[in-house]
Parts: sequence; C-alpha cells; structure tokens
Amino acid sequence: METIKTRFAPSPTGSLHVGGARTALFCYALAKKLGGQFLLRIEDTDRARHQEEAVEKIVEDLRWLGIDWDEGVIVGGDFGPYRQSERLEIYQQHIHGLLESGKAYYAFDTPDELDAMRQEAQARKEDFHYPRPKKLPCLADAKAARSAGKPVVVRLACPAGDVTFRDEVFGDVTIPADQIDDFIIQKADGWPTYHLANVVDDALMGVNFICRGQEFLGQTWRHVLLRDALEYPEPQYAHLPLIMDMDGRKLSKRDGDVEVDTFRQHGYLPEALLNFIALLGWNPKGDREKFTLEEMTELFDVAGVGKSNAKFDRDKLLAFNVDAIADAAPKRLLECFTDFLSFHDTPLAGLDDKTLQSILRSCQGFRTFMDILHKVDVLFAADDSYQFDPKAVKKVMLKNDGAGYAMLADILPLLAEAEWTAEALEAWMGEYCQTNEIGMGKVAQPIRIAVTGTTISPPIFDTLVFLGKEKTLARIQRCLSQRNAG
Ligand code: GLU
Repeated sequence: METIKTRFAPSPTGSLHVGGARTALFCYALAKKLGGQFLLRIEDTDRARHQEEAVEKIVEDLRWLGIDWDEGVIVGGDFGPYRQSERLEIYQQHIHGLLESGKAYYAFDTPDELDAMRQEAQARKEDFHYPRPKKLPCLADAKAARSAGKPVVVRLACPAGDVTFRDEVFGDVTIPADQIDDFIIQKADGWPTYHLANVVDDALMGVNFICRGQEFLGQTWRHVLLRDALEYPEPQYAHLPLIMDMDGRKLSKRDGDVEVDTFRQHGYLPEALLNFIALLGWNPKGDREKFTLEEMTELFDVAGVGKSNAKFDRDKLLAFNVDAIADAAPKRLLECFTDFLSFHDTPLAGLDDKTLQSILRSCQGFRTFMDILHKVDVLFAADDSYQFDPKAVKKVMLKNDGAGYAMLADILPLLAEAEWTAEALEAWMGEYCQTNEIGMGKVAQPIRIAVTGTTISPPIFDTLVFLGKEKTLARIQRCLSQRNAG
C-alpha cells in the first residue's frame, strides 16, 4: 500500500488563523498516525495579497504549536521548491501541455465584456456559463489580442456531465453539469490560478490525501477535472467542518482572538491551544478530551471528523489553559512564561529565572500569563504611578467611615518596626488581628489596595517582601495622602 502524504498549503496573506492551525494539525496527525509524511507548501501565487513576513510568521506559529513537517519550506525535500512563486515554469509547462492537447484554450474578454455576458444570462434567468468558442483561438490569436491590450487568460475546457467525487467527511459529492463552467487556469499576468498550481503541486509532490477546510469543498470539482485533464491520479479528500463562534456565526476577530500568535501573546500555552483545536470537528471515541500531540496523533482517525460546524468555545479554551498550567512541569511553565514575556514591554522580562519561577509559584490560580502580568506589573511600577481602583476604594477603604484608611494609619508605624520576611509579617498580622478582634481580610485588603491599587495581587506577604519595607511604607503613605487630598 502507498504511504500517506498530506500537506498544509497556506497562502501567506496574514498570521496563522486557528482554522489553518487545525488543518495543519489534522494533516499532521493523519500522516503520522499511518507512518506517512506531512509537508508544508507556501501558496504565494497571488502576488497582490502576498506578505513576505507572513511566511515566517506561519512557520514560527506552527513551530510554537509543536507541529513539524517532514518536507517543505525551510526543511527542504526531494520535490521542491516548496514555494509556488518559485515554480512558475512548472505551471507554464503544464498549461502549455493542456493548450496543445486542446484541453484548455485562450480567452481574452475584457471585464466589461464578461459583465455584459453575465447580465444577458441574468436577463434570460439563466446561470452564466462562459461560452466556449466553436473554434478555439490559437497562439497567434492570443498574441494579437495581447498586443491590442486585451487580457489574455487560459480556461480549462471542462468535459460535459456531472462531477462526482468522494469526500471522507462529507461522503459522495456531486456537482451537476449545469454548475460547471470553463474556469480560468492562467491569469492575464501569466501566473496560474490557485486551482492549477494547487493541483499540479499536489500531484508532483506526491500528496495523496488532501485535508483542508470546508470552504474548499465547493472548489474541489475543479481540481478533479484538472487532475483528469493532466492525467494525474486522484487523491483522497477530507474537508473539515466550518468553525463558528458560540452564536453560530463565522468565527471572527470581532469576538476575540482568532490567530495563533495572538493567543501566544495573550498568555496561552501551546499545548492547551493545540488540544482545544484538535476537538474542533474531531471526536475521539469515549469521553476523553485531554491529550498531548503524541496521544492525539495516536488516537486520530478521519472517521471521527464530523460534518457539523465546530463551535469555538472560548471558555472551554480558558479552562484547558488552566489545566495545562496546573499540569505543566515548572521548567516548562517557565519556558512558556519567558516566551510570553518576550512580547511585552514589562520589567518582568528582565528578571532572572529564579525570580520568575517564584512569581509563577506565588501567582497560583492564574488563567493565562496575562493575568500575572496585570497582577505583577504594578509591583515594578514607580510608587506614585498606579491608580487606586475606585470600586475597591469604595468597598474596602471608605466603608464604615473610612475604617480601611483608619486601619492603614494605625499600622503604618507598626510596619515601620516590623521584621520583613513573609513568616514574620504573617505572624505580626495574626497578632494584630487578634488584639483588635478583626479578621485578616480587614487588614490584608486595605494593604493590598494601598500597595497595588486593586484587591487582586499575589499572596499579600510575598507581595510585601517583594516590594521591600521602604516601598511598602511609601505606597501606604501615598494611599493615605490621596484620601486626605480627596
Ligand atoms: N492555499 C489555500 C489557502 O490557504 C489552501 C488550499 C488547499 O488547502 O487546497 O487558502
């Protein structure tokens, strides 16, 4: 039996979208499960929409997720080049062959002429089909048209009849003959269309299992006809269901992050995102939802991919992230945290590993690294630079005639004398609370607001030790004077 070869073939028009990451992951898992190969090809024939940085970004995002490819850009292989922009000659040879055999033909209609034809078809209440001329234009006709300033394209002469192909997810798909049209395979600028380049490359690179998003399902008949015309063998197809937001709309930036790099910058662990993405349309047997990439690959089966739209449940992703954080070894967590910090302009980025590790330990309960940044950044800020959260001030400081402020004023001289370790401060506060018959929260919360501006911070004694006595006292003093000023 032939070994399986899959590919991810992104067009570099921007960052890697979670939908693209899912395609890459499923293609990877399909190939690895069956001992096959997975390749990465860059489809950059659309020169107008091409972004060079996007290629690097896609490569980086895939690597961050832990998805490696056996063949393709960067790593090379026997069937390169793996960027379509470097394969123009190959496409032109194929187009030439199709023209020679009469399976394709030149056409040179201007956009206005095409519009007029479309409108006529509409007036007749018919679908527009490009009218293939009885006598196909020859090369001399094409040259003359080009000299006359007309756009010269090449169209595939599609055979009459329905097109049927098998999809591993959607079953047998039939496109009726009346929806089939002589489509363009070479544009007026001499570049192939996506359809031609895609089909030629899959065939030449030995890709025999095409797995991609459902948005390409409606295009596949073109690829089937092109393969037939080029006499290349037909691959297997699997189209992956659409990914929707929780309201059933197409997933978009409007409701949050949709690109892999934004999840990275917002403090998610790659293993959590990968695990979450794996479940977008794939249903492993049983109740198990948590797995590593290796485990997912082991379990993966295209029969487990459903047709129904997948839901992008952000709460679930957050919960996955919380679990992944809890499961991560300290070294791994530190590695991810350091990577996260490299995207942010924060003093934390300059700290040594030991300090970062102690911050990670003391910030237990964080959901993403962003939570830590919010909590901890204030500790590094200048003592007079942060704001006091008005809601927290109202609730904790101003209630009962400003009991919070009164307490701060009371402890200020005592703290000035206190021994400055977490244990000693804890013991001191316990004693103070006992003497004054109040709960720890009544003391800890006002201090927290005074030194961080909010009621959320790492454990209070760690926070105070981290700040040091001098800064703690200065911050409490500032909090008191703000009240007096207000
Ligand atoms: N280059 C196409 C895209 O990313 C992918 C086509 C395919 O997978 O066949 O939009």
